Amino acid sequence: MNERDSEIMAQLMEEASYQPVSEPENADVIVVNTCSIRGKAAQKAYSSLGSYKKIKGKKPGLVIAVAGCVAQQDGDNLIKRMPHIDLVLGPQSIYRLPALLETVRRDKSSCVSTALSSSFIIPPFLPDMEDAAPHKRFVTIMQGCDNFCTYCVVPHTRGREISRKYEDIIAEVAHLAAKGVREVTLLGQNVNSYGRDGQKGQTHTFPALLKGVAEIEAIERLRFTTSHPKDLSEELMHCFAEIDKLCPHFHLPVQSGSNEVLKRMNRKYTIETYLEKVNRLREISPGTSLTTDIIVGFPGESAEDFEQTIDLVKTVRYHGAFSFKYSDRPHTRSLSFPDKIEEEVKSERLARLHELQDEITIERNREFVGRRLEVMAEGKSKTAGNQWSGRSGSNHIVHFYCEKELKPGQLLEVLVEEGLRNSLRGRLIP
Ligand code: SAH
Ligand code: SF4
Repeated sequence: MNERDSEIMAQLMEEASYQPVSEPENADVIVVNTCSIRGKAAQKAYSSLGSYKKIKGKKPGLVIAVAGCVAQQDGDNLIKRMPHIDLVLGPQSIYRLPALLETVRRDKSSCVSTALSSSFIIPPFLPDMEDAAPHKRFVTIMQGCDNFCTYCVVPHTRGREISRKYEDIIAEVAHLAAKGVREVTLLGQNVNSYGRDGQKGQTHTFPALLKGVAEIEAIERLRFTTSHPKDLSEELMHCFAEIDKLCPHFHLPVQSGSNEVLKRMNRKYTIETYLEKVNRLREISPGTSLTTDIIVGFPGESAEDFEQTIDLVKTVRYHGAFSFKYSDRPHTRSLSFPDKIEEEVKSERLARLHELQDEITIERNREFVGRRLEVMAEGKSKTAGNQWSGRSGSNHIVHFYCEKELKPGQLLEVLVEEGLRNSLRGRLIP
């Protein structure tokens, strides 16, 4: 999502006649797009902002702007803490970046633009694709989130859930397709509730949007992320069986294997209902690979709660999992929860979970041996001669040899011969 916002800001600046430079020392404007989802990400943003102070000291005309969730979360305080920052803009203000830069340069004073309005309309936006067109792109379909999971900063930094207009999304994907894009990933914090945010004029549900996008002929592959398990409908599961272009991969964050913890996280489902949905999805679309997100060390997570997460991972046998140590985030409810877990315990739990998931991932990868997969070519290895890599619909990186030059985005068939730790290796089927 942030990557897409960075692309939008870069394009708006180029349209306003700014030119990109490769070294920050040569820039007249530096925009730092920030993430605040976990403490570590926010820390990274602060340290990169700190490092630009020196450059500003040598070049007083330099304008430093901060966008994204750290900007939204800290607002004025960011400038108080780091007076070398000139402009702070929240997620709804990125579309006004060139105008705000103009104001800062003209008035020679700092500016904070962090209003979040629930009636905000995400502007239609057609990506500039003049340079080498990539074969895959992200398309934002909604912003914000209304779920208020107790640990999560997103509803506070990105505001209420707002769906983009159906016609704007279709127009953007059609534009990308005409420029050579073959795969799109539809992005939102909770795509299942697309079109259900009560905004006037919403005409389509998420399954209807998927079908609409799939009708754009030149698009060969369709993905989406992320889904909230409580909103995963039978209709969406059927999309995997009905829409050929929809890749057989589902990212379904579970967060914890303990019902007690899930309740305190305000996730609004139980492990029993989660497993029912996983089983139903596997019934409807047996080949779909499943990945998840897990938080370890949520406040009050007992050893028993954590064992339940381990049991869940063993039961579902995810193809992959992103696991994180819980970190306190500003404005969230869990910030004030008692029984915070010690760092050492969180690290131990994370290491155990990683070890288990790594074993399962390799076993899962080995299950692909002997199978023919449709692979979308991505690029040639820089070091290993004719070795190419691509991605399967199941979202695995697949390595294979090919004497011919391939075009990124080209679809090929590969017979899998080896399942490795992070990828598959196979033979191209002529
Ligand atoms: N909207 C998506 C994901 C948003 S953030 C969803 O609901 O699934 C991506 C992941 O970051 C989350 O799934 C969660 O696992 C992790 N995360 C969010 N807040 C966190 C926190 N305070 N500490 C640790 N991990 C967190
Ligand atoms: Fe955060 Fe929960 Fe919304 Fe995901 S669904 S963005 S975890 S509040």
